[in-house]
Amino acid sequence: MTSREGSLDAPTRHPIAWRDDVFYDAAKLDAEMRRVFDICLGCRRCFHLCDYLPRLFDLIDSKPS
Ligand code: SF4
Repeated sequence: MTSREGSLDAPTRHPIAWRDDVFYDAAKLDAEMRRVFDICLGCRRCFHLCDYLPRLFDLIDSKPS
């Protein structure tokens, strides 16, 4: 059974395949980064916990599109 948010179970850790060639594919990295940024933009739950989101939004706002 996988743990869910709010569960008291230990979280499931998924290893990062950093030795695979696909890990260093720039196009796939860009696609994954955009996917995660889109989720975070809609969520913003941890906005007050670290400087990541304000920096991300400042970066986005500094670009023409
Ligand atoms: S909790 Fe934070 S890191 Fe997780 S999706 Fe929301 S904004 Fe992104």
